[in-house]
Amino acid sequence: MPDALPTIFDAIVIGAGAAGLFCAGVAGQLGLKVLLVDHAEKVAEKIRISGGGRCNFTNRDLDARAPQKHFLGDNPHFCRSALARYTPQDFIALAQKHGIPFHEKHKGQLFGDRSSDDFIRMLLAECAAGGVTHWQPCSVTAIAMASDFYEVRTSRGTVQARSVVIATGGLSIPKIGASDFGYRIAQQFGLKLVPPRPALVPLTFDGEAWAPFAQLAGLALPVRIETGAKKERVAFDEDLLFTHRGLSGPAVLQVSSYWKEGTAIRIDLAPGHDLAAELLAAKARGSRKLIANELAQWVPARLADAWVQQDPAWQRPVNEAGDKSLQQLAQRLSAWELVPTGTEGYRKAEVTAGGVDTRELDSRSGESRRVPGLYFIGEVVDVTGWLGGYNFQWAWASAAACAGALR
Ligand SMILES: Cc1cc2nc3c(=O)[nH]c(=O)nc-3n(C[C@H](O)[C@H](O)[C@H](O)COP(=O)(O)OP(=O)(O)OC[C@H]3O[C@@H](n4cnc5c(N)ncnc54)[C@H](O)[C@@H]3O)c2cc1C
Repeated sequence: MPDALPTIFDAIVIGAGAAGLFCAGVAGQLGLKVLLVDHAEKVAEKIRISGGGRCNFTNRDLDARAPQKHFLGDNPHFCRSALARYTPQDFIALAQKHGIPFHEKHKGQLFGDRSSDDFIRMLLAECAAGGVTHWQPCSVTAIAMASDFYEVRTSRGTVQARSVVIATGGLSIPKIGASDFGYRIAQQFGLKLVPPRPALVPLTFDGEAWAPFAQLAGLALPVRIETGAKKERVAFDEDLLFTHRGLSGPAVLQVSSYWKEGTAIRIDLAPGHDLAAELLAAKARGSRKLIANELAQWVPARLADAWVQQDPAWQRPVNEAGDKSLQQLAQRLSAWELVPTGTEGYRKAEVTAGGVDTRELDSRSGESRRVPGLYFIGEVVDVTGWLGGYNFQWAWASAAACAGALR
């Protein structure tokens, strides 16, 4: 019976995802009267599907003194304040308090042992402990500013509050509730946006040019991948996955956040090996193995077989190959340069890069510099983390910073 509920709150948090749930719970426990609303049927769907259903909820490698290393955005330093004050250890302590078992996987990534539902239940319990009023599904039709409060019109009635927190996330995975609501509200109040774009997303390639590699769909291998030049050059050592339409896997997802349209990515398919030297040494030993079979020591056999099909000069025994042709083969494998035609878009992107311009916000709270009482937290802000739990840590940290600043 929403009509019977009080219509005046200290804060209204819009979006019951990672950042919104956490912010509402902390603010409620700090004694604020909080309303949390979300238009989706189900709560925190992104947490539920995250980390393959196990939620990679934070990353131990986050350096609280220099967290910007694992984040991108127009001002990578913006995230420092919140991330330095609410650390992975703080969230780990909360998970432990709720008895959630977890483990470390790869490069500091922490996952729940059981299911992402553990974390959703924990966040809902924290909201309940803070006496948070939770309306879901409930859509917000308008936000207007009166003299010293906001009026928020929702499908369950009109409510008022001194503060409004926008935690509606980015555009990725529209089928589970993503919307451009946060960007529209920012624009309504005159805040600038950094154009949103899909990030942590598979890359696609021209159909015809990709045809020789389409047969490799499903193949995964460790690579070194890079993009950008000079100061903008970034590189990752991660696994690559071939797909029917292009490339995916952690290596490509990471690099996709930095990739600029029309530019190349470079991949070393045999990192840690000097393939030219190895092949020439094999030739010097008089190896009669087919080049593909020799290569299979350093790269998966499927890849070696597909690769040599690109040039008849590579389809022969090593001892019959010319030095130059072996060197060219090695070069193509260790510095494979290719220009993606695009990305798989928001349908497949794990996050949205860009968003509310951080120059508009106070880094200690997420509050708009020009519009007092209007806060932006989580993915809607132009702060994007690397793959591996960094985006959730940003959601928790920005939410905690905001909750502590709400009046
Ligand atoms: C498949 C997938 C796997 C992922 N895995 C991980 C992982 O393992 N680790 C990690 O760190 N990150 C992961 N991420 C990224 C992570 O889920 C997000 O960065 C994080 O959820 C952002 O939190 P948020 O609260 O800002 O937004 P969200 O969690 O997206 O929450 C936004 C909420 O706002 C609601 N909303 C949207 N529009 C409106 C509106 N108009 N009115 C009312 N409510 C609205 C939505 O329904 C949603 O509940 C993954 C993302 C995807 C898509």
